[in-house]
Amino acid sequence: MIEVKRLDEILGQDEVVNYLTKDLESKNFNHAYMFFGNRGIGKKTLALSFAKSILCQNGNPGFCGVCNSCKKFDMESYMEFIGYYDQGDSIKIENIRRILEEEHLKKYEGAYRIIFMEHAQRMTKEAGNSILKVLEEPWPGTIFIFTAINPDEILPTIISRVEKYYLNNLNQKDLSSIMKSLGYENNKYLSLGSIDEARVLLDNIDQDLLDYKQFSEIFIRKDLVEIFELAEKLAKKPYLKELLSYYQLEAMAIYRQGFEEINLKVIGAIDKALRKIKKNVNEKHALEYCFLTIGGIFSE
Ligand SMILES: [Zn+2]
Repeated sequence: MIEVKRLDEILGQDEVVNYLTKDLESKNFNHAYMFFGNRGIGKKTLALSFAKSILCQNGNPGFCGVCNSCKKFDMESYMEFIGYYDQGDSIKIENIRRILEEEHLKKYEGAYRIIFMEHAQRMTKEAGNSILKVLEEPWPGTIFIFTAINPDEILPTIISRVEKYYLNNLNQKDLSSIMKSLGYENNKYLSLGSIDEARVLLDNIDQDLLDYKQFSEIFIRKDLVEIFELAEKLAKKPYLKELLSYYQLEAMAIYRQGFEEINLKVIGAIDKALRKIKKNVNEKHALEYCFLTIGGIFSE
């Protein structure tokens, strides 16, 4: 059983919701949609809501929730919806073949059929090319809905054949109410703008998880032992990337208050560390270099 939000209940993505609502009103659908944006901002929520609305028999423009199609959608037993959800690793050509085969084997119940794929950036080149063939010669009634983080990671030939929408990071007010609805009372880390990223930090109750003020105080104290210890501790944390992003955003918020250049330098130093970590440079080394740079910035 899946619970799908109505388009008008989705927070923080008004612009995209408006475009999709227009498509639903006119029933003039593109054969493929792709929703881009940071993780944890509601791409999948939006995709499922749009899919259910397209398939609803009474939908105008949202879904009714009571028709046969809506009920089957909720029970995940609807013939017209094929969902390929994130499995954590790359999407191979075999996976695509299976999805497309399934499409052919199913018999049509309604006017449209939807193939939903999460994390399209995980498609291998071969997988991408096999999807491309279908996108080049769309099947009547079949609508693809993809989500992906970054357009740079998708084959340009695919990008050119989908309707693209870029979702915003969530503002603090919207994120706060979403987190509350998920049972999080703590209003920390909202600057991250992402449900997933805020959750990673909120779920890690850890004395080493310093807020930005505590973090910057270490550099003001200029205690090298403390700085190296912090690098060593944080390097092993599962929330390292989220925490560094959070420090960057906090530094940015402070910069906007007083335009002190020091904050921009801190952001730059953390950015370098994040890039290195993404390229699989040893975390401890990346952090040590970063923290020494920040230490230098604070003693200028
Ligand atoms: Zn319905």
